[in-house]
Amino acid sequence: MTTFNDFGLHADINRALAAKDYTQPTPIQTQAIPPLMKGRDLCGIAQTGTGKTAGFSLPSIHHLLTYPHRANPRSCRMLVLAPTRELAAQIAQSCRDYGRFTKLSVSTVFGGVPINKQIRDLSGGVDILVATPGRLLDLIDQRALRLDDVEIFVLDEADQMMDMGFIHSLRRVAKLLPSRRQNLFFSATMPKEIAHLAEQFLEDPVTVSVTPAATTVEKISQYSTFVEQKEKQALLHSVIASEDIDRALIFTRTKHGADRVVRHLAGAGIKAMAIHGNKSQSQRTHALQAFRSGEIKLLVATDIAARGIDVSGVSHVINFEIPNVPEQYVHRIGRTARAGAEGKAISFIAPDERPYMRDIERVTRSKAEPMPLPENFNELVRNLPKPAQPPRDTGSKGRDPNRQRQDANRGRNGGKPQGERGPRRDGAAGEGAEGQRKRRFRPRNKSVGAHKGAVTRVG
Ligand code: AMP
Repeated sequence: MTTFNDFGLHADINRALAAKDYTQPTPIQTQAIPPLMKGRDLCGIAQTGTGKTAGFSLPSIHHLLTYPHRANPRSCRMLVLAPTRELAAQIAQSCRDYGRFTKLSVSTVFGGVPINKQIRDLSGGVDILVATPGRLLDLIDQRALRLDDVEIFVLDEADQMMDMGFIHSLRRVAKLLPSRRQNLFFSATMPKEIAHLAEQFLEDPVTVSVTPAATTVEKISQYSTFVEQKEKQALLHSVIASEDIDRALIFTRTKHGADRVVRHLAGAGIKAMAIHGNKSQSQRTHALQAFRSGEIKLLVATDIAARGIDVSGVSHVINFEIPNVPEQYVHRIGRTARAGAEGKAISFIAPDERPYMRDIERVTRSKAEPMPLPENFNELVRNLPKPAQPPRDTGSKGRDPNRQRQDANRGRNGGKPQGERGPRRDGAAGEGAEGQRKRRFRPRNKSVGAHKGAVTRVG
């Protein structure tokens, strides 16, 4: 059995691993670390929760320590691109943890926060920079950063990047990178267009795969209940009352749907928070912290906001609405059953969502077990407490979707709204992320797309 000592990692890294109580490498680490230590390019098919962050950051930190030199001003030695600010922050934190006994500097840049501090952070140069694509390009355009010194380039969650419309940003970044570099490319799924993107970044890569959709899904007990859309709130209350929940992530397809669920739960005196693209960065961070610390057991999230979130102890994933892309289902339920723990996924399927579920079962080669409605369900529906009124300041930025759309267009047209949030090109970082994604998103599966209109109406 492989141990961390077998990799020959720098002693300071081994110390950090011991401090984190990591005793054994995960499968992606066992497969990825040796070729990465040799300087090979890597194509990793793995999702969050597999230990891929350590898989790419440990050998990279080892490289930075083995060839020590100061980063040049306004440059970085290692660049990690992630689709969302939450994931970027999480990766940066992991790098800090693994590099805690070293002097390596780690910086994060993403939209939604003032750019000036980021410009200052970069001015002296940094060893490891974790960024979302839009803000990265803004900083480059403002001459706060150059990429010609990048020794290691990591592209994380490539499939999500494509879904979010980052392809042009990625192409621009690719052109700015030096030709001599090590490339690491990660994606949870590898459809044709992602494989094509990988080819553009990688040279003679080693490919490692640890999460074929089916095997990930197999570890999780999946249940599904057929229910009318308007009765889903009552079903949610019943599930929360009857299940032994440590922490549950509840997924909706829309931001407003997420807020509505929180208000309904609040009406029944059940505490929950929502995390989605209309929330400010500090609200998102606060909700995540409350969920991590156990202050709240229920976090309601849209797909994009929840991407890459790593919270241990998620006992349940509840699909309040079914995603219209099967891979999204895999991403969602992958938030539970971490590190061999038991996980349960429960899907609420309205009549017009049945085709989505069929697609999901086909792609994941698994079948959710039917979970019947509770016997007293009609009574539950009749007695459902009224939702709490939205507070004046809902915690959302409270802007109507049309207004967001106009703003997004303004950003693209060059008349960009300057200031804290910066331009909208970084869909992940700005609040327009989900709006942008909807506009650019094309369902990969035609039969799913055919039902899109019907289901979008639901949210
Ligand atoms: P990741 O897929 O990189 O987001 O990692 C998922 C979680 O697994 C994180 O909380 C890591 O801290 C944890 N982790 C990564 N590698 C190991 C390991 N070898 N042993 C125990 N936990 C790990």
